[in-house]
Amino acid sequence: MTDKNFSIEFFPPKTPEGAEKLRAVRARLAALQPRYYSVTFGAGGSTQQGTLETVREIKAEGHDAAPHLSCIGSSRESLRAILAEYKASGIRRIVALRGDLPSGYGAFGEIRYANELVEFIRAETGDWFHLEVAAYPEVHPQAKSPQDDLQNFVRKVRAGANAAITQYFYNADAYFQFIDAARREGVEVPVVAGIMPITNYAQLTRFSDMCGAEIPRWIRLKLASYGDDAASIKAFGLDVVTRLCERLLAGGAPGLHFYTLNQANATLEICRRLGLSGG
Ligand code: FAD
Repeated sequence: MTDKNFSIEFFPPKTPEGAEKLRAVRARLAALQPRYYSVTFGAGGSTQQGTLETVREIKAEGHDAAPHLSCIGSSRESLRAILAEYKASGIRRIVALRGDLPSGYGAFGEIRYANELVEFIRAETGDWFHLEVAAYPEVHPQAKSPQDDLQNFVRKVRAGANAAITQYFYNADAYFQFIDAARREGVEVPVVAGIMPITNYAQLTRFSDMCGAEIPRWIRLKLASYGDDAASIKAFGLDVVTRLCERLLAGGAPGLHFYTLNQANATLEICRRLGLSGG
């Protein structure tokens, strides 16, 4: 179908109904033949079992799957135990992150940043895991400066990451600029573009405020102007995001990582329009 690196992200369902719904979503997305699925991990291990169970289920269905692992609020000992469990489950891929603590949650933990987590995983398990780390074309919200953030990204890669996935963005130039800057620093690993389909304006605004992803003014104004007209929001969102993906792929992005929020429709339709649909 394509040699690009397409992957699909889920969060671990909290209820049996959620798990059943996710199975149905996966059955539909399987037509896309993604390279792997990834499953998020709550800071401090709050979703640890759900993450592992979901990854095991996906692997049992015959697909590659990567748990995310965040280090914030965790001890070395607890991370070591998780790595051992992942290894025993035949997992060969991890998305390694610092994570974000909910406010009032407590201390940073023994491993403070993602570069330290990557170092720790390599020291504990050698090359067993293929490691993906996060990248921020529009700069991480807590970064001191864009330059400092870039150096911190480079540090994660030098610590042993095999590839990176970006935070989502709607401005392709921010991605291309970031890639150029990273290449100038000697980063050669693939940096896959994270894609957030647009289906719900209120939800998108909330996420974007939290993670520092910018919704360009013209997109925000258009979405706001549709009010409760969900069909128009979805139609506009599909057009905008498909065009973004086209530009990214044409400009050399090595792949796309879809933040599905456990929904299938928008990702399926974007991939169909991009000609990536296996079905
Ligand atoms: P880091 O790379 O550690 O960076 C965090 C901040 O610290 C940045 O501002 C950076 O510039 C700075 N920094 C980095 N290293 C150093 C250093 N050595 N010294 C000083 N400053 C430093 N969150 C979850 O909780 N669970 C998930 O499953 C999850 N999945 C994600 C998947 C992707 C693809 C992405 C892009 C994000 C995901 N997140 C997840 C969110 C992520 O945890 C947050 O964005 C978090 O704030 C930063 O994580 P990081 O791994 O990028 O951190």
